[in-house]
Amino acid sequence: MIDQEKIKRAVGLLLEGIGEEPSREGLRDTPDRVARMYAEIFSGMEADPSVPLGKVFSVQNSDMVLEKDITFYSMCEHHLMPFYGKAHIAYIPDGKVLGLSKLARTVEIYAARLQLQEQMTEQIADALMEYLAPRGVMVILEAEHMCMTMRGVKKPGSRTVSIAARGIFEDNALLQDRFFRMLRT
Ligand code: ZN
Repeated sequence: MIDQEKIKRAVGLLLEGIGEEPSREGLRDTPDRVARMYAEIFSGMEADPSVPLGKVFSVQNSDMVLEKDITFYSMCEHHLMPFYGKAHIAYIPDGKVLGLSKLARTVEIYAARLQLQEQMTEQIADALMEYLAPRGVMVILEAEHMCMTMRGVKKPGSRTVSIAARGIFEDNALLQDRFFRMLRT
């Protein structure tokens, strides 16, 4: 459960910690504002991916389904800083497909948690395998990490790419090639 009162207290301490005066006018409502914002940003903690992934339709066709450029925003668990970018998801149906908005909703659920990009990539692939049970899944996430671009090595615009392949995508180079070609079109 998200405890907004605890978040408020913590943000107050954080402001003191950086040498601010939490009672000054501009900051007076900040702890409350941040607590409400965090409840939204981390709403995926309490959301269950089996809900969107349970909405399936039967199909005969078993050709690749690709949903690309799904925008997401998440928070890095090492620095509590945002990372954001695009997700691309392909799967080969085994008699069932999802409504397209359900892939985006699944990405959103995993993004709205403290995350590591690699872990999020795997979680999306595993959830699809578990709830949709397709013949294979391929997930690519490309993201810019504020903890890299705003501080430390400061490389604005650099993107981290992570890939997870499951089922028949795992050892089928032809299928993977087709996925990458479809991504570029
Ligand atoms: Zn980080």
